[in-house]
Amino acid sequence: MSVEKELFLKYLGQTTHHPMGIEISHAKGCFLFDQEGEKYYDLMSGFSVSNVGHGNRSVIEAITKQSERYLYTMVYGAVIQSPQVRYAEALINLLPDPLEQVFFANSGTEAVEGALKLAKRATGRTELVTFRNSYHGSTQGALSVMGNEAHKTAFRPLLPDVRILEFNNPDDLTRISNRTAAVIIEPIQGEAGIRVPEPGYLQSLRARCDETGTLLIFDEVQTGFGRTGTLFYLQQAEVIPDILVLAKALGGGMPLGAFIASRELMSMLTHHPSLGHLTTFGGHPVSCAAGMAALNFILQEELDRKAQEKSEMFKNLLHHPAIKEIRGAGLFMGIKLASTHQVDRFLKASLNEGMLFDYFLFCDDAIRVAPPLIISDEEVKDLSARILRALDQSI
Ligand code: PMP
Repeated sequence: MSVEKELFLKYLGQTTHHPMGIEISHAKGCFLFDQEGEKYYDLMSGFSVSNVGHGNRSVIEAITKQSERYLYTMVYGAVIQSPQVRYAEALINLLPDPLEQVFFANSGTEAVEGALKLAKRATGRTELVTFRNSYHGSTQGALSVMGNEAHKTAFRPLLPDVRILEFNNPDDLTRISNRTAAVIIEPIQGEAGIRVPEPGYLQSLRARCDETGTLLIFDEVQTGFGRTGTLFYLQQAEVIPDILVLAKALGGGMPLGAFIASRELMSMLTHHPSLGHLTTFGGHPVSCAAGMAALNFILQEELDRKAQEKSEMFKNLLHHPAIKEIRGAGLFMGIKLASTHQVDRFLKASLNEGMLFDYFLFCDDAIRVAPPLIISDEEVKDLSARILRALDQSI
């Protein structure tokens, strides 16, 4: 075991008994390199963070430039920091009405906290509705709306009044009532194993929320920024949420989260009480500058359209008896195999094929294919050949 690995195990709080434990030397484009000089395709993009690829020049330049102007000045919301203002403006110009104002946070889970608080404050209601096997973060509010009891029990009591519906079951929508403050949903479920909504399902959800005066929160933390083939999945769904939650790729590789709502809704956080939501580092100027550069890169390079094209390429190339189903949109794909055992064998074989995959939190018979959106045609072909070889070894 390397000294660094020993220190990693000794001094860092661990999240599992089986960390991947590869020591990263550097990262470039679609690849992660370890200390032994091995090169791995990054099939996770940090769970949808690295959409513009590793070591993106325009992001690095933006970080450098902003770091030299100022790193940190004041808590979020007090003084005017141009990287925040300009990034918020750019996002709002790309989003439909009435998504009019951005509240920056540090992470996805914090943005979810803000969104849930805003929904409770605006409606005066307490009930929150979520979906089986949803993931919205690990803090206590976000954990309360996680749709998986095994991960919650040890941390109870959590928020009361949480109702869990079955994703894609239209009959369940009647359980949303005029007691419900908000429904929070990943429009494509990620950690559930990439579950795409049935046509019309999100529209029915929107309609039920309108009937009951319930706010609809879309968590596009993983589906945002071109990953699914459009800049945001809400464009494909043709549904406008009351609150949109973003993070991961929002910061272009730097920590950043945001919840976005109408001006009217957002104003609720300024009175009764005033300072209704606060953050020291939320909207860090360096993160905003990095995020803005990444967004411009996505737009210039049309990475959303390219994600769609590359997805089609993968689907044409990935034919194998072990593959039971390919789910997803754009480069947010889940490949279903026959069993957990096959997934375990595949993940072992994939390391030898120079690919880094990871498990889904709530789905153990599928693998995630979510490389950076800058992946080239040649890389898609090469990667597909490697995936097929690893599948040969998994059955
Ligand atoms: N929502 C979704 C859909 C996520 O996938 C995640 C993180 N995996 C979060 C929220 C929480 O984000 P963070 O880890 O930045 O707190």
